[in-house]
Parts: sequence; C-alpha cells; structure tokens
Amino acid sequence: MGENIRLGRIAGVPVGINWSILVIFWLLTWELAVLVLPGEHPHEATAIYWVAGIVTTILFFASLLAHEVSHAVVAKHNGIGVRRITLWLFGGVSELESEALTPGADFRIAVVGPITSFVLAGVYGAAGLLLNGVGGGAQVLVGALGWLAWINVLLGGFNLIPAAPLDGGRVLRAALWQRNGDRVGAATTAARTGQVFGYILIALGVFEFLEVGLIGLWFVFLGWFLLSAARGEENAAVMRASLTGVRVGDIMTPDPTTFASSMTVADLLDNQLHRYRFSSYPLISPTGELEGLTTMSRIRHVSVNVRRTTRLIDTACPLSQVPVGSPGEPIPDLLQRMQASPDGRAFVLDDSRQLVGIVSPSDIARFVQLSMLRSQGRTSRRN
Ligand SMILES: [Zn+2]
Repeated sequence: MGENIRLGRIAGVPVGINWSILVIFWLLTWELAVLVLPGEHPHEATAIYWVAGIVTTILFFASLLAHEVSHAVVAKHNGIGVRRITLWLFGGVSELESEALTPGADFRIAVVGPITSFVLAGVYGAAGLLLNGVGGGAQVLVGALGWLAWINVLLGGFNLIPAAPLDGGRVLRAALWQRNGDRVGAATTAARTGQVFGYILIALGVFEFLEVGLIGLWFVFLGWFLLSAARGEENAAVMRASLTGVRVGDIMTPDPTTFASSMTVADLLDNQLHRYRFSSYPLISPTGELEGLTTMSRIRHVSVNVRRTTRLIDTACPLSQVPVGSPGEPIPDLLQRMQASPDGRAFVLDDSRQLVGIVSPSDIARFVQLSMLRSQGRTSRRN
C-alpha cells in the first residue's frame, strides 16, 4: 500500500492518504446520508443529510488519524522513529523504523491506539448527549455524533482482538514477551493468531457476501490482508531469530568488484555485465575513492538513447546515503539501517575505510534459508 497524497506532518511525522480511501469515504458518506441519518431523524432536506454525511465521514477519518498519531507519539516517546502514517482502504498504518526494545514499550505503543479511539467515542457520545436536549434541527447532528461514538468503539474494540498485526496482537506479543522473556516466540505466537483470525474473517466475509451482499467482499479482502501481514510478521520473526548473534562479516559478499564512476551505462551493459552475476555496482573515482552505489534497477531506468552519455555516477546513490557497516557489527543493527535506505544495500568498510564487502537483501535471504535448512536437519536427526 503506497502513499499517494501527502497531507503534511503531524507531530513531525509525514501523513498521507492512499487513493483506496476514496472507496471507504464514498461508502460511509452514502451510508450516513441515505440510511443512518434519515432513518433516525426523518423529514429534513436531502442536502442536510449529505452535508452531515460528508462532515461526519471527515470526522471519522480524523478519528482514525488521531488513533495512528497516538501510536506514533508514544513510539517516538519510547525512542522509536516513525517513517510515516498512511490512511487507506483498511484504516490507518503507522510505519515504525524499528521494534520496541522492551515489552513495556511494545505494550504502550500498541495499547494507546484503542485507548485513543475509546476516549474519542466518549467525547462524541458526551457531545451528542449534551445536544440531545436542544431539539429541532440539531437532531441530525446528534445522530452524527452518536454514529461517531459508535464507530470509534468498534474501531477500538476491533483493534484489541489479539491477532497480529492488530494492536491486540501487539499487546499479546508484549505480554508473552514479558512473561517468557522470548521476543521471537512471542512475535511468532501473535503472528499465528493473526493468521487464524485472517482465515476466520475470510470465512465470515464469504458467508456475509452470500447472505447480505457486496460488503462481505470487504471483509474477505480485510481478512486476506491481515493473513498476509501476519505471515510476513512470522517470517520476519523467524528471520530475526536466525540472524541473532550473526555478524556482518559472516553474511557479506566479500571483495566486491568495483567500477569506475565515469564509465557509461552503455559500456557497463555492453562490455562488462556478461562477466558478472551480481546487481550492485560500487563506484570508485580515478583516485580509487568510493563514491557511491548503483544497481541494476537504477540502470534499468536509463532510457536507451542516453545510455552512451550517462555515466554510472549519474545514476548512483551517493556514498552519504548508502548505509555503511563494519565486519564485526551484529547484522540486525545494519539490517535496520538498510531497510531505511534507498536501495536496501550496504557497504562494509574495514578500519581503514576500505571497501571489503557488500550486503544485499539476497545475501540475507540466502543466509536465512541456509540456517533454516540446517536447523531442519538438526530437528530431523533428533526425531
Ligand atoms: Zn492501532
């Protein structure tokens, strides 16, 4: 899910929306203007229902945003950077730059979201009760506030279901981590309950689709999204476990071939690449200094008619933006910097700042697969 429209920054975090949110915007506005508000308080002008529907839907998205911002604020308070917040088809997502360091921080970052939703529900509910006495045209407003209170209760409650990647899954992970001291085991259990919940939602969605109609499809998609996100979290937990204690030097591709930064793209493609199988190209200046990194996917973006005039350095990620590690550093630390970098690759430099290796996502994948195969070998021998 990408971000398509940047809205700005809240609490220093970039906030954006994805186009898919327009589907929900339309559905909610329609539901409010045509079904909910006229059903509760009839005999108003159609325009009033539509205006109220649009304003209420905007307030709903503001509530959703407040939920995500609360995660982001508590994450930052616990020393974890937040890359961005995006609102999309299935609600909001706060992308954290790293994981919580303690079960307590993990718990606080997760639980504040549903708490925020419940507090908002209380505020909308109280406002509705206060206005209820006024009577007259304010009744539509009362209906809207009641709906906002109700949907925030639903939002908070749904997110508390103990299934990753929902907030409740994070709370479960934090609790198990606190009790057993095993973060990976806790994350794996939370991710597995997430997969079970994903299957349940898909089954309910299919049933609802057959019985009620199209809205069931939304639950099928939501279930499928949660299922794949939970699978991803389980894989990430397994990967972190197999990388614990591993050093950069154990994983890196040593002594990478370097290329002159003044070489043209055409020269690289026509005369060099048939000899090599890798897709990362460290670039050096005529005096032998490391200048940057270009990759096959960067070169692919150079159009054919300018390949003869485009130098590799023109396509490159400058050295200042390539994450750098040392051979003795634990790989999980470098991995975090790699994930935040443009190409997802890192240079490995020795004490005298000489290039001694490259770490790419395929190096990591190969290592993880190998260690999983080895551990399977160990278990089957034991059996
Ligand atoms: Zn949340």
